Amino acid sequence: MQKRYKCPYIDSGINFFYNEVRVCCKSAHKVEGMPVLAEYDNISIKNILEKKKEYKKRFETGDIPAECEGCIFISETEKPNEDLSFGYIDINTFINCNCQCVYCSCKDIENFNEKSVYGILQELCNKKMIKNIPEGYMQFAGGEPTLMKDFEKIINLFIKNDIDNYLIHSSGIKYSKAIEKLLKEKSTRLVISPDAGSKEVYERIKNVPAFERVISNIKKYAKAASKNPKSSVITKYIIIPGYNDSTEEIVKWYDLSLSLGIKSIILDVEMNWYKQNNHSITDSIKDMVMTIREKCVKDKIELDYYESLKDWFFKNPV
Ligand code: SF4
Ligand code: SF4
Repeated sequence: MQKRYKCPYIDSGINFFYNEVRVCCKSAHKVEGMPVLAEYDNISIKNILEKKKEYKKRFETGDIPAECEGCIFISETEKPNEDLSFGYIDINTFINCNCQCVYCSCKDIENFNEKSVYGILQELCNKKMIKNIPEGYMQFAGGEPTLMKDFEKIINLFIKNDIDNYLIHSSGIKYSKAIEKLLKEKSTRLVISPDAGSKEVYERIKNVPAFERVISNIKKYAKAASKNPKSSVITKYIIIPGYNDSTEEIVKWYDLSLSLGIKSIILDVEMNWYKQNNHSITDSIKDMVMTIREKCVKDKIELDYYESLKDWFFKNPV
């Protein structure tokens, strides 16, 4: 019998990337091909849905597009999902930032023009094409969302349309009242990635003197989130070999996070290094991850991994 496949993002994903509308963000800001739904100069809901139907059909008939081959989000399915609405919305249109992380891929993008997706999001909301689904989210990533022209307008549109579940990635340098409101009123995960437990290491990675401000903002956001059991502020540590790959630094970051009221953390390994290292990690990086993993069990802290470590654990279950 012909095998059928599905992917949650092919089913319900839309990624407003800085230069085109894609299905997912699983390779955000990388040049490798990703399934594309529309170009910005020819954007309409009709075009987006036609393209989405085409991808869904290909998955259901086992004709996986080359851009998706080997992706860990693909699984077999018995029956096709006919629903065309969106539950994973990525807003990655913006690339500017008030931080300068050594690993940031946004800085490689030339001739950036900020695009507003407010109009198309409003149309999707009016047509009830955006839905709250289990595991779904409205995600802001790419550059620094609090500097986007339409950030607060989009948040207000989503709140007005009863959209729950937000995932926001911020440098944490600029405090946002809109994020504070989401943390208090909606199910919101705010991810801030200091990647360091000390000012010196932070400044080597981020190239801006903002360590104390970020720590103080994390504390304020964590206080806002503590009023809503559905919200959380999550600190992230991307292990960047040559910068912060020491157990001492990661433990400093972990202890600092807990002292700020953080109950969820994320670990990852810098994506370009991981690819250059043949999708593998060194024993010392594995020891760092295991040290934090053991602490999380002891302290009842929620631990998640982002793409590189997720991929590594998927292939090397420990
Ligand atoms: S299979 Fe992977 S790359 Fe393709 S749409 Fe799904 S998540 Fe994106
Ligand atoms: S915080 Fe994010 S967008 Fe800003 S420089 Fe760092 S990686 Fe890039």
